[in-house]
Amino acid sequence: MYQPEFEAMSSDALESLQVQRLQDMLARTYENVPLYRDKLDAAGISPTIEALSDLSRFPFTVKDDMRSAFPYGMFAVPLREIVRVHSSSGTTGQITVVGYTKRDIENWADMMARTIACAGGTADDIVQVTYGYGLFTGGLGVHYGSERLGCVTIPISGGNTKRQVQVLKDFGTTILACTPSYAILIAETAQEMGLDIRDFSLKAGIFGAEPWSDNMRRQVEELMGIKAIDIYGLSEVLGPGVASECSEQHGLHVNEDHFLIEIVDPDTLQPVPDGEYGEVVFTTLTKEGIPVIRYRTRDISRIIPGACSCGRTFRRMERVTGRTDDMLIVRGVNVFPSQIEQVLTGIPGVAPHYQVVLSKRGSMDHVEVHVEVAPDTDFDEIRELESLRRQVADEIASALAVSIDVKLVEPKSIERSQGKAKRVLDLRAENEGA
Ligand SMILES: [Zn+2]
Repeated sequence: MYQPEFEAMSSDALESLQVQRLQDMLARTYENVPLYRDKLDAAGISPTIEALSDLSRFPFTVKDDMRSAFPYGMFAVPLREIVRVHSSSGTTGQITVVGYTKRDIENWADMMARTIACAGGTADDIVQVTYGYGLFTGGLGVHYGSERLGCVTIPISGGNTKRQVQVLKDFGTTILACTPSYAILIAETAQEMGLDIRDFSLKAGIFGAEPWSDNMRRQVEELMGIKAIDIYGLSEVLGPGVASECSEQHGLHVNEDHFLIEIVDPDTLQPVPDGEYGEVVFTTLTKEGIPVIRYRTRDISRIIPGACSCGRTFRRMERVTGRTDDMLIVRGVNVFPSQIEQVLTGIPGVAPHYQVVLSKRGSMDHVEVHVEVAPDTDFDEIRELESLRRQVADEIASALAVSIDVKLVEPKSIERSQGKAKRVLDLRAENEGA
């Protein structure tokens, strides 16, 4: 544990720290961010609380609030106190900008050092940072945490997969940080180069920035001979380091001395009890540059009730199974791509590469899953392929309670990503144009 004085706090001590930090944050934010002041004034809410439960009176913050304040409208300090900015990728609209003060960067480094320690990391480790460096928070976020913990830090950034493999081998990397789908690509590339990563010094991976299934975890662990832990974060709240799995691999400890987590019903927006699924909502407690009150992440998860045997007392959120944005509705049933992945990665003969393809057939939406077969499959064995295809379709139907068309495709025919994998391909607009 990197900071046991916080990570293993008693619940009473944690709550009083949270109340004090929340009061301070609300006062600062009301004073300095017109968007929040206007919202609270309009709702007739004073920016003061007696207990944490009072937070449920406050309005939510959504991505559009941050877009409308572009670029610096949500900052709570003058620009001369900001030392860094990052931004979201902008794949689903205008980008948003987030700013960090010196203290924000310090706190972030501490949280990422906790994360690397969660993976068993110490000052003796060599961390290969394969997340992209730049406006994306992944690269620099992990980088500062790795240096804070005293690890040898390799700032290789993403891309050039053969070189990633070569550096893993030659530099004696012990901890790899990247997206889980890129970890698979690195392992496959090593195989093509005639190398087995299990012979390298690598012992752990900290993987995040996209939802992935537990089966995929087992697959990466097997391919690389490592322990793979899931990490969670988002730029609007911090970047990586908001929450991390420990070696128990059963839920991600939320850094509750810096963030309050709520799970709300996405329809009614009412908080749900621990253990129930809903949308994850975060309130920052210590952020100075860009504090957020009740930010709706659109990620679906739940609080795992009970204590963790690792000794950390921060509550755990379950690994994110999907985003409300990615959710597909297939004949009335809610389906997340990660549920499909969980099924696929349990079937021998198929590779962990798939894409959900949405198209139009007449006026109807059509959903089809394209799945790569394992590299050694003989494509001339039509009967075997058909029986594999049927097995995949049957297992998806029984796991998801809705049947989805399945098409087997040749090895390496689905585009590989060096960052976040593109799991859903939406061709509906093209079909309409045709
Ligand atoms: Zn734990």
